[in-house]
Amino acid sequence: MSVNYKELLDQLYYETKDFAKYGKVANYIPALERISGDYFALSLITDKGVLYSSGDHSIPFSIQSISKVFSFTMVFRKIGTEIWDRIGREPSGTAFNSLIQLEHEKGIPRNPFINAGAIVVADMMLSVCNDPKSRLLSFIQSLAGDETIHYNPEVVASEKATGHRNYALAHFMKSFGNIHHTVEDVLDVYFHQCAIEMTTDQLARSFLFLANEGKNPINGEEILNPSRTKRLQALMLTSGLYDESGDFAFRVGMPAKSGVGGGIVGVIPRQLSLAVWSPALNERGNSIAGIEAMERFTTYTANSIF
Ligand code: GLU
Repeated sequence: MSVNYKELLDQLYYETKDFAKYGKVANYIPALERISGDYFALSLITDKGVLYSSGDHSIPFSIQSISKVFSFTMVFRKIGTEIWDRIGREPSGTAFNSLIQLEHEKGIPRNPFINAGAIVVADMMLSVCNDPKSRLLSFIQSLAGDETIHYNPEVVASEKATGHRNYALAHFMKSFGNIHHTVEDVLDVYFHQCAIEMTTDQLARSFLFLANEGKNPINGEEILNPSRTKRLQALMLTSGLYDESGDFAFRVGMPAKSGVGGGIVGVIPRQLSLAVWSPALNERGNSIAGIEAMERFTTYTANSIF
């Protein structure tokens, strides 16, 4: 079926924008709290590299937990299966920043997309490269083909000032021997990655390698081999939307990753990547209009991974 993506994105923009009124913009730091809930953007890029967008697709926003896909990818391509000695790959069934499960499971996080898992990945980044913050940023810039992508220092500072639970998670895992560097160094990397700002155009573009068996279709670079690409997307499908991953798979049917900045990026392998942004969140911390738009996208096109 041939779809006019530009028309479809515009239609989804008008149909689903107002769902934001049922949600609430993240308020744990001022820099996120003052973002208008009116922003709404959709960007789609095909595996041939053709980009379609609607709404506020040129406005950068805080990618927050979406960065966990980039940091995981960077470490996975370096150390491969060794990752699984220190991080699991099961959905957590608990909140993204829960401490309780870690106690039972002796400091091994359930998966790389809960905070504890991403904090272990940040610790691994410190082991595999000298300057993980600039390496991560240049990795993302090269995936997106855009050197304007940046850290927001105000968000970094607020994450540090309010990140008590993340400090608790890191210290707790360190007590089990699963953090090898100092907690300050590890969380400095983690808080920076949360504070990266990108547009939906850049996000769609940077996830495109997943839709192309691990190769960036624009410059031909292999980011992950096809087997690791499959594994990463399996993790996104089962754990990419916090404690709403099952419902998202049910409603939308795409591997995806969300963040509390209101962004969600999903992939249909061998076809396309789709990024949406609407800052108002539901009670599980996911963009309420974003999920609605993605659900309608797979419904109207009768196209998902299933
Ligand atoms: N930066 C916040 C944290 O680590 C939220 C990240 C997110 O879930 O998007 O607690």
